[in-house]
Amino acid sequence: MPENTCVHRDSGRRHFLQTVLSSAVVGFAAQAGIEFASPEKLSAQTNLSPDAALQELLAGNQRFAANQLTSIEHDLAILKEQTVGKQEPFAAVLACADSRVPVELVFDQTIGHIFVTRVAGNIVTPEIIASLEYGVAVLGVKTLVVLGHSSCGAVKAAMKADTVPGQISTLYPHLRQAVQQSDGNFAKAIEANAKIQAELLRTSSTVIRDAVKAGKLKVEAGVYDLATGKVTLI
Ligand SMILES: [Zn+2]
Repeated sequence: MPENTCVHRDSGRRHFLQTVLSSAVVGFAAQAGIEFASPEKLSAQTNLSPDAALQELLAGNQRFAANQLTSIEHDLAILKEQTVGKQEPFAAVLACADSRVPVELVFDQTIGHIFVTRVAGNIVTPEIIASLEYGVAVLGVKTLVVLGHSSCGAVKAAMKADTVPGQISTLYPHLRQAVQQSDGNFAKAIEANAKIQAELLRTSSTVIRDAVKAGKLKVEAGVYDLATGKVTLI
């Protein structure tokens, strides 16, 4: 008997939860319905000027930092359907591989909006250049942000020049210049690194350099603060 009572209570609770969840789903769907203007915005985004594209990213970060995300209200089924055959991201980001820097979330964006390359230490390598050149020349992104972040393990390791397993130390040469400019200051090294990598993109890629010169692209460096959720351009 006690077991039966228990099952009874449990199924009652389950029914309650199902009812609550169903209402939540209906509520969410209604909200999503109101937000249906957003998918149209997707195809128009590449018409943004470089300045407007950068502002769009920063506005998204302000929403993220204020815990007021709008990207989660998009209807993912519609977004997926509209982006199966094409993509028209308005921005590109080179960020660290760090799990605490989820780029789309940080800028309150969703499917098809930003072209993201990630590698530990947000360093510029030939493969990263090639990927970002595709974003610029083929996809027509209007802004490119190199995003460093506070407490970056790659920068920290390069500063200490620790002995590390496997091929991790191949990151070090890319970070050396930033470490040299930092005077042993961790935050300064992180900022310097983002700036150095952004400048490297502007100068070592002819595609990026020409797009910047033609006023079609803006390349910026920024740092994401893990504690506040805010991105600051530097
Ligand atoms: Zn990092």
